[in-house]
Amino acid sequence: MGTRVAVIGAGISGAACAATLRRAGIDVAVFERGRTEGGRMASPTIGQRRVDLGASYFTASDDEFLAQVRSWRDDGLARPWTDTFDVISPDGRSTTTGPMRWAADDGLRSLVRALDPQAKAGNQITDLRDLDQDAVVLAMPDPQAARLAPDAFDWVDYEPVITVAAAWDTRAWDLDTAAFVNGDPDVTMIADDGSRRGDDAPVLVAHSTGELATRHLSAPDDAIAPVVATLRRLLDIGREPVVTYAHRWTFAKPTTTHGDEPFGLATSTGRLLGVCGDSWCPSGPPRTEAAWLSGHRLGAALADELG
Ligand SMILES: Cc1cc2nc3c(=O)[nH]c(=O)nc-3n(C[C@H](O)[C@H](O)[C@H](O)COP(=O)(O)OP(=O)(O)OC[C@H]3O[C@@H](n4cnc5c(N)ncnc54)[C@H](O)[C@@H]3O)c2cc1C
Repeated sequence: MGTRVAVIGAGISGAACAATLRRAGIDVAVFERGRTEGGRMASPTIGQRRVDLGASYFTASDDEFLAQVRSWRDDGLARPWTDTFDVISPDGRSTTTGPMRWAADDGLRSLVRALDPQAKAGNQITDLRDLDQDAVVLAMPDPQAARLAPDAFDWVDYEPVITVAAAWDTRAWDLDTAAFVNGDPDVTMIADDGSRRGDDAPVLVAHSTGELATRHLSAPDDAIAPVVATLRRLLDIGREPVVTYAHRWTFAKPTTTHGDEPFGLATSTGRLLGVCGDSWCPSGPPRTEAAWLSGHRLGAALADELG
C-alpha cells in the first residue's frame, strides 16, 4: 500500500491540500463533518436559490493562487465581479476602489468542490487515534483544531460573525455591488448576492459585527431583526423582506495569526501532523487566498517529506 494521508476539513485549505497531495500520487482521505464541503465558503440553497453566506468574494495576488483562479475562470466557475464597493459611514456614502473581487455564479462553494471532487462530507473526527494514515492534516479554524490536538501548536483565537440573508420580491435599493459599513454597531458588510452571483436576484447578505454575533451566538435567529432593521435604514428599503435566514459562524476570523509561518508541521505520536488554514498567512490577510496557499503549501511539503 502507498503513502496515506488523512485531511480533516473540506474547506478551501483542506481541499487545496488534498488536491496537491493527490497530484503527488499520495492516497488521501478527506473527512468533513458538515453536510457538504466548502466550510466558510458556504453557498446553501435558501428559497430555491444558492446564497453565499460565508466569504463574500475573494481576491488574488500570489502567482500560484492567480494560476488557480485562471483555471477556475477558464472552466467557467469563477469570474471577476468588481473592484469598486460603496462605503457607508456615519458621515455618508462614498465609493472605494481596490483589487479585483472575484465571485462564482454557482456560489463560492463550487470552487472548493472543483478542487477536490472526491471529498466525502458527513464524517466528523473526534479522536486522531481513530485514524491509521501515515500523516494527518488539520484544515480548520484553530479552536476546532485545538480540540483534536490541544498541545501540538500555539493556537490562536477566532471571533464570531452572524450572517443574515434577506430576500425581497423585487430589488428596492440603490447598491450596485456591495458596501463596507463603518461605525455601525451591528453590521460590517452588505453584499448584493444577485449582483455577485450574476442572476440579479433581489437578495442581500449582511455580516454582523463581532459584538452583535457574541450577543446572539446561542440564538442566531434573534440577530435577524436588528440586522434587517439596519439594512432597511442604511439602504432606505421601504418594505420588510419576504425571506430571512441567519447563519452563525462561531469561528469566523482569526483575531491574530501565526506570523511568518505558511502552515504548521510537527511530529505527534510518531507520525506527521500538519495544520493549515487562514490563520497561517505570512503574506496577506487571513482570507480565502491565504487559506488556499496554506493548504497547497502544506500539501507540497508533506509530499516532499513522505515521498
Ligand atoms: C462571514 C465571513 C465572511 C468572510 N468574507 C471573506 C471575504 O469576503 N473574502 C475572503 O477572501 N475571505 C472571507 N472570509 C474568510 C474565508 O471564508 C476563509 O478564510 C476560508 O474560507 C477559510 O478556509 P479554511 O479551509 O481555512 O477553513 P474552513 O472553511 O472553516 O474549513 C474548515 C472545515 O473543517 C471542518 N471541520 C472542523 N472540525 C472538523 C472535524 N473535527 N471533523 C471533520 N471536519 C471538521 C468544518 O466543518 C469546515 O468545513 C470570510 C469568512 C466568514 C466566516
